[in-house]
Amino acid sequence: MDFLTKMMQGPLQRTIAHVAHVNGRGYWTGKNVSLTFLPAEPDTGIVFRRMDLVDQPMIPALAAHRTDAPLRTKLVYRDASVEMVEHVMAALYGMGIDNCIIECDGAEMPGMDGSAYAMALAIHQAGRFTSDRPAKLCRIEKPIRIGNAEAYVEASPSSCPGLTLVYHLDYGPESPIPSTSTSCLLSPEEFLWSIAPARTFLTQSDAVKLQDSGLAKHVTHRDLVIFGPSGPIDNQLRFPDECSRHKLLDLIGDLALCGHWIDGSVFAYRSGHNLNGRLAEQIPIHSSVTNDALTKAA
Ligand SMILES: [Zn+2]
Repeated sequence: MDFLTKMMQGPLQRTIAHVAHVNGRGYWTGKNVSLTFLPAEPDTGIVFRRMDLVDQPMIPALAAHRTDAPLRTKLVYRDASVEMVEHVMAALYGMGIDNCIIECDGAEMPGMDGSAYAMALAIHQAGRFTSDRPAKLCRIEKPIRIGNAEAYVEASPSSCPGLTLVYHLDYGPESPIPSTSTSCLLSPEEFLWSIAPARTFLTQSDAVKLQDSGLAKHVTHRDLVIFGPSGPIDNQLRFPDECSRHKLLDLIGDLALCGHWIDGSVFAYRSGHNLNGRLAEQIPIHSSVTNDALTKAA
């Protein structure tokens, strides 16, 4: 391929250069799960594979297979499912990976320290391999808003190339979790050092309710950030805006389910997995695949 064609083509699809491994316990089930990230051919996309099930079924990580589940993102395809996929998806998207097969031996992804840092670091250390196939890009050409005045997420055209994100968190003046905003222009460096380390969080009362219902029994104050009336319990924030940073991380993971690189800006106000996932479902429909036009022009 000559230089001009390469330039006209824009970004190319990438996979990881080497196999990467991560393992840890799931928050909800407490079960230990091993993840193996494998390099994949162009146009594979991101695919989970349940190695613990008969016939080792594949689950494509696409918004069409998302199903509603409390406080997490779950994918169901045919008879198999995977859940808590948002941090894995954020790590791959944030680190610029188009194609990857993730072998797992359980349904629930590991909770790690509540952040995507271990996964992003493993992907970073595996290195990237660039194919000669154009990446799938979506340019947002008109605003798409999901939600209402209480909580929404909106994608808009942007004059700045790439994906710009803003998350505004506001649980009200009574909440022990402070209202904060986080913004970023997504790049692997920005993601690895500024977004991936932000941990998930709960209020103490929500944590007690969860454990009373028999879930997350093994989770302690050290496994995520738990907010009591006067701030994090037995823990320190990694960033003053760690909670909105983490919500931005979740947003990236959910948007990754659109299966394209988004060219535009996304503003989220109090949104969660449901709204984020519904936006991801709309994005390929409401936007143009800019690479196709570039390839034809070349
Ligand atoms: Zn999260």
